[in-house]
Amino acid sequence: MTTTICPKCGKGTNISLSGVCRDCFFQNFVLAQLPQVIQARLCATCGARFTRGRWADEYDIETAVLKTIEDNLSIHEAAEDVEVCIVPRQLTPHMYKAEVEVVAAIQGERITVVLSTEIRIIRESCEMCSRISGGYFEGILQIRATDRSLTDNELATCLRIVDTTIDRMRAKGDRLAFVTETIRSKEGLDLYIGSINSGRHICKSIIDELGGTFTESPSLFGQKDGRDVYRITFSMRLPRFTPGDIISIRNRKIVVKHMEKKLTGTDLADSSRFIATEDEIALAKHVGNIRDAVNAVLVSEEEHELMILDPFTFRTINLKKPSGFSMPQDEEISVIRIEDVLFLLPPEWRKNNN
Ligand SMILES: [Zn+2]
Ligand SMILES: [Zn+2]
Repeated sequence: MTTTICPKCGKGTNISLSGVCRDCFFQNFVLAQLPQVIQARLCATCGARFTRGRWADEYDIETAVLKTIEDNLSIHEAAEDVEVCIVPRQLTPHMYKAEVEVVAAIQGERITVVLSTEIRIIRESCEMCSRISGGYFEGILQIRATDRSLTDNELATCLRIVDTTIDRMRAKGDRLAFVTETIRSKEGLDLYIGSINSGRHICKSIIDELGGTFTESPSLFGQKDGRDVYRITFSMRLPRFTPGDIISIRNRKIVVKHMEKKLTGTDLADSSRFIATEDEIALAKHVGNIRDAVNAVLVSEEEHELMILDPFTFRTINLKKPSGFSMPQDEEISVIRIEDVLFLLPPEWRKNNN
């Protein structure tokens, strides 16, 4: 840099910043600006913040205040290595004051500026919360089971999946991912859901875990901004049989392990694997559940047979010994009575490895 005369003050100088000397440059230089009063529009229910024309991001109040200050802070575009330190202080539930220190390098010079501002909290209801409270929904999810009621276990599983799916969709930015109403009835479960997309995800997740099928049927319910608006009814059908059900197929007693289109299970008579086709499933009859298993005393172990005290008749009875059988320590064994016949529980269904 060469020594020149500053055109503004006329002093000789050897630093040239934008064509003037250092003193003249920094005299009028503004590193950062912040309005004295800022409004933060926050949803009183969910904590969402109104920013750049829309409701987004649910925060705690302190974070919302920091984000609002950041949005309103403008820093000179020539600034480099910018560091911002914001210290907010709550005065009332509706008002914060904050000191904002900005440190930056301008053409190699470190500059610090301290600003202060007042943040007024405006509590409103975001569009999502007003829709929830207004009972808004786009999708109806009807969960039923084929030829039976939902089990308590299925009900709990469905509700858990609904919660986690809604949370996941919300985190991805679907602010209509909410449940307006949940109705339990003898037939099953009805859910009124804010967004069609989240309804579809819930159906898929439930089927992944419990099996079954679902169909979608749209119905026109009005017009918005000149276009048709549809609601969608999702009809879910959980499978006829659930894991642990015992069914009779052509006189064989099968413990259901898994059921989608096909059914896999274990034959109670010899613990062999069983796969049923759709036709066989249609003929199958529900005859019990693995829950009904009880413990029986093992009287003696022969080479090919086990002598068991039947807990229902109190008579001893001989059952075929499964291959690889080893005597349980407490000399008790799980059995189940199906249509007056006693069966040993297959190994995979036995508790305590007996
Ligand atoms: Zn000058
Ligand atoms: Zn809200």
